[in-house]
Amino acid sequence: MAPMMGGGPAAAFLAMATPAVGFVAPANRPALRVFQTASPAISEESRTSSGAPATSALSAVATGIALSTVALSVASARRRRGAIRTTRKAQPVSVEEKRFPVLSKRAPVGTFPKLPPSVHPGVVTGQSLIDLLEHAKKEGFAIPAVNCISSSSINACLEAARKMDAPIIIQFSSGGSQFYAGKSLDNTKFHVAIAGAVSGAYHVRALAEQYGVPVILHTDHCAKNTLGWMDGMLEADERYYEIHGEPLFSSHMLDFSEEPLNENIELCVHYMQRMSAIKCGLEMELGITGGEEDGVNNEDVRPEDLYSKPQEIYEVYAALNKVPGANFTVAAAFGNVHGVYSPGNVKLDPEILANAQKFIKDKIGSQEDKPVKFVFHGGSGSDLNDIRKAIDYGVIKMNIDTDTQWAYWQGIKGFEAKNHDFLQSQIGNPEGKEKPNKKYYDPRACLRAAEVSVAKRLEQAFEDLKCVGVLGLGPPEKPENVLGPRRGGLPA
Ligand SMILES: [Zn+2]
Repeated sequence: MAPMMGGGPAAAFLAMATPAVGFVAPANRPALRVFQTASPAISEESRTSSGAPATSALSAVATGIALSTVALSVASARRRRGAIRTTRKAQPVSVEEKRFPVLSKRAPVGTFPKLPPSVHPGVVTGQSLIDLLEHAKKEGFAIPAVNCISSSSINACLEAARKMDAPIIIQFSSGGSQFYAGKSLDNTKFHVAIAGAVSGAYHVRALAEQYGVPVILHTDHCAKNTLGWMDGMLEADERYYEIHGEPLFSSHMLDFSEEPLNENIELCVHYMQRMSAIKCGLEMELGITGGEEDGVNNEDVRPEDLYSKPQEIYEVYAALNKVPGANFTVAAAFGNVHGVYSPGNVKLDPEILANAQKFIKDKIGSQEDKPVKFVFHGGSGSDLNDIRKAIDYGVIKMNIDTDTQWAYWQGIKGFEAKNHDFLQSQIGNPEGKEKPNKKYYDPRACLRAAEVSVAKRLEQAFEDLKCVGVLGLGPPEKPENVLGPRRGGLPA
């Protein structure tokens, strides 16, 4: 047994919050060939470092660590169960046990049978990001990009990705980042939106590898008037790069589509230079996405602005391509809108993307039929034919926000409808005047229903985007040790 095991997610979280509380990053720890379920890691480590099982968790309480209750309950649950099982399982992907990637100095490990070898479980950046996107373009699938606003919505995405045996893009808008940090905080100079995005990024980094899927960590629309947010996130990327040799986020989106084209390009080139220095990717927007999202309303723009021209896309492509090491995608407008509207109100024209690819191929004399990697905004409510055509023409990422928002709400709505009579008071329900309702109003119950509903909606998105089984892992194994009805919880 290696002397310094990670000790499972709880200990890892503790260690993240308080590096001083007895956790040493295992720089020279030999690679393990197996992943242990219910491993004796926590007690083993505690014994060697402080004498008794769970002592480190208790000392964390003494030092006032908020997350200590998690570790405490894990430790006591293990004691209750008596002898610790040491079932060992072969890992389909990883050759090491799933380690906490933020703290360890090791490079991410593991490969996927059907993906380029550089693509690993966890957050992909730099070359592995490029390889994954190029692979998607070549193989003809796109990756769903979901706007997340809490750990709950992130986990629903990761769950869906593992189920569909696929990569996923998790992204934060500026409003979503602010929400992640907490709506009561003062967001002057975007401090809170920056902190919220960074916090969400660490959550994704802490958990993505546990789900065993590749994750692209991205941020959504950043217009000229919210550049302070971008600058703050890039500072975080640069600091992260100094330590880990990769940016905190895989990529960011800049949206200067409301500015004149030359200014849009100039600003994008400026940021591309800063980003490529730390191997961070850029998504730029050209032409306007109609509709309304995250407080930005484009419902009244001129119809012709909803469609990009091949020449414009070429100018962007040529300018960004000149930046050494540039990795970029283009969100060109082909009639897409944010939000879901009644049928007939949206006229998508994916041929615009096909024409642009051909135009640029001829212009630069490329061997490649699809030199540009396109992004599809406003994917919610789109016609499957349009989605599939867009993928054929080089779309490798499709944003989905409105439909997952609806799915999240629908989960809660359905939960309330099903359990209405158990949700009206703390005590008393149809089963008896004195029956407690705690297990119904515990927020985990309705949030879990929301997560299940989002994961279900995402399954459809993965299928629409032909992004199913692309990792080659097969279906996930049945989870063990999941807190469930036997402890009095509700089945979700
Ligand atoms: Zn968008």
